[in-house]
Parts: sequence; C-alpha cells; structure tokens
Amino acid sequence: MPAIPFNMDNVVKCRCGTCPVHSASQCIMQRAAGMPMPPPSLPDPTKFEGVYCSQAVGKSTCTDLDGNLACVCPTCAVWQENGLQTNYFCMRGAAS
Ligand code: SF4
Ligand code: SF4
Repeated sequence: MPAIPFNMDNVVKCRCGTCPVHSASQCIMQRAAGMPMPPPSLPDPTKFEGVYCSQAVGKSTCTDLDGNLACVCPTCAVWQENGLQTNYFCMRGAAS
C-alpha cells in the first residue's frame, strides 16, 4: 500500500470531518476547535485531526473514539485514489 502524503491536497480531500466517529469524539472536537477547514496553510500534523491514513498523522491521540460508528474513509478520494483497503485509521494508525 502506498505511503499517503500529508499535503494540502489530501487535507482538503479528507472526509474525516464528516465522519460520525469524528463528531462523536469530544476530544477531537476540542482539538479541532478553532482550526478553519480547509486550513489556510498546511497544519502541523501532530496537532491535526484528519488524514490519519498518512504516516505523518497516524492514530489519533484521542481515546474516546467509538468504533461502532461508521468510518467514511471508503467515500474519500484519498482512499480511492490510493487503493486503500482498510479504514478506521484514526483508531488503528496510518495505512501500511
Ligand atoms: S482515507 Fe480516511 S483518513 Fe485518509 S484522508 Fe480519507 S477520510 Fe481522511
Ligand atoms: S479515519 Fe475513518 S473512522 Fe476515523 S475519523 Fe476518519 S473517516 Fe472517521
């Protein structure tokens, strides 16, 4: 599986912001508060909640993610363009 770059193109394409796993997490909502979407420039990946499939971001530091909710990664252009086959990268870590 290809390494997913953390770049503006993928930040804009990422669908995590529309995902129920994301929006149900108070921790992610707090960490993402004040971050305009799309951001004006490439954010610090260690502070960014999204593009978890990239090695630069990987698994979220938040621990209140609910894996019973549906991951929307398969609807994402990054997922489709890179032939990804797994999901829940925010909980499981970057695509490998
Ligand atoms: S595949 Fe998932 S984690 Fe990766 S950019 Fe798309 S929605 Fe975000
Ligand atoms: S990686 Fe999947 S489950 Fe996690 S926030 Fe993104 S779309 Fe939702």
